[in-house]
Amino acid sequence: MQLVIQNLSKTYGNGVKALDNVSLTIPTGMFGLLGPNGAGKSTLMRILATLQEADSGSAMLGEIDVLKNKEAVRRVLGYLPQEFGVYPKVSAYQMLDHIALLKGVIDNGERKALVEALLQKVNLWEHRKRRIAGFSGGMKQRFGIAQSLIGEPKLIIVDEPTAGLDPGERNRFYNLLTEIGENVVVILSTHIVQDVQELCNNMAIINKGQLLFAGAPTDALREMKGRIWEKSIAKSEVEHYNAANKVISNKLIAGRPSIHIYSEADPGNGFIGVEPSLEDVFFGHINGAHNTVAA
Ligand code: ADP
Repeated sequence: MQLVIQNLSKTYGNGVKALDNVSLTIPTGMFGLLGPNGAGKSTLMRILATLQEADSGSAMLGEIDVLKNKEAVRRVLGYLPQEFGVYPKVSAYQMLDHIALLKGVIDNGERKALVEALLQKVNLWEHRKRRIAGFSGGMKQRFGIAQSLIGEPKLIIVDEPTAGLDPGERNRFYNLLTEIGENVVVILSTHIVQDVQELCNNMAIINKGQLLFAGAPTDALREMKGRIWEKSIAKSEVEHYNAANKVISNKLIAGRPSIHIYSEADPGNGFIGVEPSLEDVFFGHINGAHNTVAA
């Protein structure tokens, strides 16, 4: 099973082109959709989750036409939205039980076993009687994963799941995601490079509605090899370097700007060649220094 997206476009009423002719093939396993805020990630996720209409294009999940056969998609979909709204006064157990009922698990015994197993799986068993509204960000996300797993989904969409989580919560969430079966298409939409680095064997980068890269992170890194150069500069020099070079990132290290530039040849001038990171790949594409779309 794979998800094949072809020429998908979406323009909002205000004229914003959120998706511009996006074509992408997503195999089973963990797929990272990386892009800065406003790139069009949520628009794509909502269209695939049948919550929004595309203007044109197609998306096929195996034999299922995602844009036309919404009911069939919903039967095999697990969706964890960016903002997970919950009924404030309901406990984790009650809420999962309710969602399982809505998803068609009508047999009481079967539903009880399922809800209990899921609460164990996401490590919320001891909190099952607590109101979800009082949960930490990480606990809410783990609850979100539990509900998305009901019904043995074939497509799981997780939209910006780690934004706002502390490092410990993020790790627990990563571990949970890696336990999802290998035969499921899992799309993880995120602006956090580390999410993709730790979890995904395939990825795409989008910006301003356009696909800038699709492929394996290792291929992306290979393309950038020998082309990333670093230099520590004074704050007053930042403007100058921005004007003169393809600066792809500018980070403070111990209060002093450290810039990375993209250059196919040794730029000299005190720049030192560095091993590219996925962050270089991301900023290289986003900042327009290196724009090619892999097949
Ligand atoms: P991301 O999830 O990558 O942050 P979005 O898909 O939310 O990106 O947004 C892509 C672009 O579409 C942004 O410029 C955003 O402001 C715009 N946008 C998103 N939703 C709407 C909407 N309902 N109406 C108008 N513009 C929207």
